Amino acid sequence: MPQLLEGKPVALEIERRLRDEIALIDDAPGPPATAAAVLVGDDESSYSYFRSILRTFKRVGIDVVPREISAGISDSHLRLILGELNHDPEIDGVIVFQPLPHHLDRSLPANVLSADKDIDGITYSNAGRLSLGVPHLVPSTPLGGIEILKHYGIPIEGKHAVVVGRSPIVGQPMALLLLGENASVTVCHSRTPDIGYFTRQADIVVLAAGRTDVLTADMISPGAVVLDFGVNFVDGKMTGDAHESVQEVAGAITPVPGGTGVVTQRVLASNTVKAARIHRELVREVDTIG
Ligand code: NAP
Repeated sequence: MPQLLEGKPVALEIERRLRDEIALIDDAPGPPATAAAVLVGDDESSYSYFRSILRTFKRVGIDVVPREISAGISDSHLRLILGELNHDPEIDGVIVFQPLPHHLDRSLPANVLSADKDIDGITYSNAGRLSLGVPHLVPSTPLGGIEILKHYGIPIEGKHAVVVGRSPIVGQPMALLLLGENASVTVCHSRTPDIGYFTRQADIVVLAAGRTDVLTADMISPGAVVLDFGVNFVDGKMTGDAHESVQEVAGAITPVPGGTGVVTQRVLASNTVKAARIHRELVREVDTIG
């Protein structure tokens, strides 16, 4: 059996770190670290993620201002709301749940949110900074993947990592983060003709396709580490992107459920605390000048 890279110990370690950082903010004058959670419409999975974030943030001591907005909102009205949150002195960070209703411009949050309040690293500014090797606020899911590798002492530097998936929120930033940790990185996607050709050469395989059985036992070398971000449902049961046969060959693998997903929200909380520190520093600077 491979080593199971459970998410829970990693999540608890991040929570422990966060408590100390939040205590510093709470001891200073001013409001507690506060995030606005913007949910447009009634997408069921977004709503359940939304409620789960409210619970996690409350537990670690971050205030959340929920903004539930009706599905019929226009682009210009949503732009106005996000603009107000950018300038709201009580708000340190903002998350906008995806997917937005179809009639809305999906790139609007990436265009409009302030990079300093962008706690899920979706803005063009934060994506650009990550790609230039100067990360600011980074997407929480892939950053959680790096946290898992580090927590379990899995070396990244000098290793060959193959990432399957290139979306702006998981695959692509994961590839950039691995590059930042000095791995050699290959990215595969839906147009890659023979993914196994690449994954068989990998020390670390990252799955972020959202398709079952993207990786089978014959596609990895013995002992490879597999980070599975995939969330799929087969007969009502949650599975990742790796076929169960991968367990027979992998050296270590994240379980699904119980692996990467558990860590994502804690990293989002950690990003909020970072945004709170940036925000308070800016306020202090403005006060000094003014
Ligand atoms: P996405 O936007 O649909 O992107 C999927 C990516 O996978 C695309 O780049 C696509 O290639 C590629 N792909 C699709 N089918 C493929 C195949 N058969 N072989 C190789 N590549 C394939 O999805 P996402 O938002 O990145 O999410 C990916 C998965 O992670 C989903 O299951 C999602 O639910 C899960 N997720 C997990 C967490 C967590 O915390 N664990 C958080 C967020 C998302 P093209 O670019 O060529 O289309």
